[in-house]
Amino acid sequence: MRLYNTLTRREEAFTPRSDNVVRMYTCGLTVYSRGHIGNFRTFVCLDVLRRALRYLEGYDMRQVMNFTDVDDRVIVESQKAGLGIREYTERYIAAFLEDAAALGLEAAEATPRATDEENLRAMSDMIRALEARGHTYRSEGSIYFKIASMPDYGKLARLDHAGIQPGARIDADKYDKENARDFALWKATKPGEPTWDYGLGPGRPGWHIECSAMALRLLGEPPIDLHAGGVDLIFPHHENEIAQAEGATGKPFSRFWVHVEHLILEEEKMSKSLGNVFTVKDVIDQGHRASALRYLLLSSHYRKQLRFSWATLAQAEEAMRRLGDFLARLETVANANAHPALQERVAAAREAFAGDLRADLNTAGALGTMFDLVRALNSAIDAGDIGTPDVGVIRDAFASFDRVLGIMSLRRAEDDRPPVPVEEIARLIEERQAARRRREFGTADRIRTDLETRGILLEDGPGGTRWKKK
Ligand code: AMP
Ligand code: ZN
Repeated sequence: MRLYNTLTRREEAFTPRSDNVVRMYTCGLTVYSRGHIGNFRTFVCLDVLRRALRYLEGYDMRQVMNFTDVDDRVIVESQKAGLGIREYTERYIAAFLEDAAALGLEAAEATPRATDEENLRAMSDMIRALEARGHTYRSEGSIYFKIASMPDYGKLARLDHAGIQPGARIDADKYDKENARDFALWKATKPGEPTWDYGLGPGRPGWHIECSAMALRLLGEPPIDLHAGGVDLIFPHHENEIAQAEGATGKPFSRFWVHVEHLILEEEKMSKSLGNVFTVKDVIDQGHRASALRYLLLSSHYRKQLRFSWATLAQAEEAMRRLGDFLARLETVANANAHPALQERVAAAREAFAGDLRADLNTAGALGTMFDLVRALNSAIDAGDIGTPDVGVIRDAFASFDRVLGIMSLRRAEDDRPPVPVEEIARLIEERQAARRRREFGTADRIRTDLETRGILLEDGPGGTRWKKK
């Protein structure tokens, strides 16, 4: 597979360094609020990258995707909520997992939290290694990375070294992209802030050190194969991750750097600070399907900006419906003749599909290839030039497309899922029984009709009440 490597600004052939295992680190969500669909554009594209490496290229994956559960914003928001940060971030981790499942993301092999003790220890150890190699200085209880100590600082973001201000310090985790500055590795505790001490003095880690330390703790000896995130992370976050990991080990950090362009909304980046965000849950609550959103997020190349609108989401839904209709039509094929030319057409589409994805993960091209095939096969069905032996071959092809795209299986799961969560149905059946015991038959009937309007039928029998989809 060829992948665009931000480090070299070129497309390069990607293979793992050793053992057929891809060691990949994905910068995960900062869990100070529910992730928005922009965040999930990045996660869905990287999920397809993961699936392509697994199912198309046959590699095993060792992917780490972290939760940033301590940074400036997490601290501010948890303080506002009057909760400890573990407790505060727990709910957004749960929300992430819910949204990730709705969008069909495969689980990474490891999903560490920055504040897990072993991770904080790894961060402290890395900072000590940086101190030993002369890359740091201390000031007022905090420890800073001295970027002048790394001659190649700026190589990922291609910084103009004139912009590097030696000795200029910054304490914020996120800062403007104009000036490179010495950044905090370990921040002295301020009143009311969470604090840890693993030999560096009381404090908490900076955002950047979290990822370098977790990547190397969980993926082993550098260089790792692949490091990924959205384009906004190139500078300062990934530049600083490189400085830390390479400063501490003396070895290259990651062979490939992959960055996903932003999802935008009406010309603007979707971002929590601008307030123009939708979550996956918002989209579902408005009656849309997560499978259509996943489709939309894959409908343009990951290195191009993608504009979100309700109209494009409706188009994605329409495309998903065409695909579903086509797959349902295959069921109607009855004659038993094989059509070798048609089967060759399918084989050629499989080749083309793989070729699209191997060309820097061209998901738009792959979807186009698949829909060209749908059109050709619909014509064959119209003309009666298709038989059951062909259908087996066609099904295999669409199953292989979907192992990477993950849209049709998601759709099927949505179709199979009852329109009301199973736990809620169980609770309402319980409430209805209780109402009947109290002889409140009006309430009991209302529960039944409410469920019916939501698509669930209740059936009372000798063994109790059962439910089914309408
Ligand atoms: P954060 O929670 O801000 O650390 O972001 C989590 C991931 O989402 C990172 O990889 C970001 O680069 C990515 N991201 C943030 N905003 C967007 C957006 N509008 N479109 C695509 N990816 C985004
Ligand atoms: Zn990171």
